[in-house]
Amino acid sequence: MKPILPTLFLLLTIQSQAVHITHYTVNKPFCYSDKAIIRTFNMDGHRMQLVVDVNTLHTSTQLVIHTLGHPCGSSRYTKLLHKSTAAPYPVTNDGLTHQHGGMTLTTDLCPSSKSGFERRLYQALIDRFKHPVPVILFISGRWIVHHEKSLAQLHRWEHEGKLAITWGNHTYTHPYHPGKPLEHNFVLSPGYDLKSDTLKLEQTLLERGIVPSIFFRFPGLVSDQKSIETIRNLGLIPIGSDAWLAKGQLPKQGSIILVHGNKNEPKGVARLLKNISIKKTIPKLSPLSP
Ligand SMILES: [Zn+2]
Repeated sequence: MKPILPTLFLLLTIQSQAVHITHYTVNKPFCYSDKAIIRTFNMDGHRMQLVVDVNTLHTSTQLVIHTLGHPCGSSRYTKLLHKSTAAPYPVTNDGLTHQHGGMTLTTDLCPSSKSGFERRLYQALIDRFKHPVPVILFISGRWIVHHEKSLAQLHRWEHEGKLAITWGNHTYTHPYHPGKPLEHNFVLSPGYDLKSDTLKLEQTLLERGIVPSIFFRFPGLVSDQKSIETIRNLGLIPIGSDAWLAKGQLPKQGSIILVHGNKNEPKGVARLLKNISIKKTIPKLSPLSP
């Protein structure tokens, strides 16, 4: 009998651990202690909750142990939820685009016909920064279902302590219609259901043993007041960018850097790698600290 390759074994292990998520519901957030309960769902017969630590903003899942609590008041989470979704409502790049701390790297995984992913990008992070390297992945469901092996590799780097991944929501289908005006494109496309598509991505992650974060990125960075309110009502924080590298925007202290990890925008990745290699522009990467 041929030995099973370690990578294949891990892939099979991850797949065999796939769980079934049903009855996925949005809670009007309530708090107990320092936790906000934002979702309730069934996972292979167990009643579970998705919770947010209102101070650290980290998410986790737990068995249902609290069904009642108190309003979440003026926690860091609540304040951020309102600050990031307040008027005015620009059609592009709404939400948080800058932060107090160091630079944060966000990598978008929009649907792509390209096979694989920007391995050179994540490998450079692993090779050149202290472990675990903080990075946000804004991931879409249509990318996941066509790139399960790439997802497994990213998940593996997280388990090995090389990357500290924050799993951000980039919707399941990530609608895009080339040539259409922004007002009728991306999540503003006629007939598009932003709420169900966002929740579908969360379930897709949970089914693969990944806990979704509260960070959300609009496809194309395009939104309006109604879609911003939809995201706020789901308890999610929209994240824009002030340093989309492929567009020539340079990162500075506090920047939220945007590159694509799906091979659709190699120019941005090349610029990031160049900056990393001279260790001048990007000396250190930080977790998002809004
Ligand atoms: Zn995208």
